[in-house]
Amino acid sequence: GWRSRAAFKLIELDEKFKFLRPGLKVIDLGAAPGGWSQVAIFRKATKVVGIDLLHVDPIPGADIIQGDFTDPANMDTLIDMLGGKADLVMSDMAPNTTGHSATDHIRIIDLTEDALAFALDILNPHGIFIAKVFQGGSEKGMLDKLKQNFKVVKHAKPPASRKESKELYVVAIGFKGKSEEKEA
Ligand code: SAM
Repeated sequence: GWRSRAAFKLIELDEKFKFLRPGLKVIDLGAAPGGWSQVAIFRKATKVVGIDLLHVDPIPGADIIQGDFTDPANMDTLIDMLGGKADLVMSDMAPNTTGHSATDHIRIIDLTEDALAFALDILNPHGIFIAKVFQGGSEKGMLDKLKQNFKVVKHAKPPASRKESKELYVVAIGFKGKSEEKEA
């Protein structure tokens, strides 16, 4: 069985957007307890590398480290473990809430922006980025960056996500490739 209710959210996002093709190299950010990694392996990813602040019991076929994703040393470790570029970077990370809504909002945006910057660095052309966002969706600045870098950018709330929760997911498909040329 799946280790998390979150597993169903990924399955439902895939039903809608069809990104879990066989043979993908996948990065799973905020992996605990491991549902999304399980789904990726079940859907025949060739490599799944993940990270979480919490310990994750071993998942056959996935390599998951314990640590803070925002620590650059851990980002380097993930890249080394993957041994090449990724086809899918998926982030279900959510910071612990403080109860102060403005602070919570800023913290989730920061985390998602870090995940996006990382994805832009390590995705293969045509790669996919999925991340949890809150409230109205991606912030203007992040949405602009997503649209610059991906062919298709959509928001979706999978049915398994509780109605009361303000979470939704951004799904960005068709990475256009690293932007050195565009900036030169
Ligand atoms: N997708 C997972 C699954 O299917 O099992 C569920 C992920 S859970 C909703 C969010 C996770 O993000 C938590 O386990 C939390 O520890 C992790 N997280 C939050 N901030 C993080 C950070 N800075 N680095 C690594 N993991 C983080």
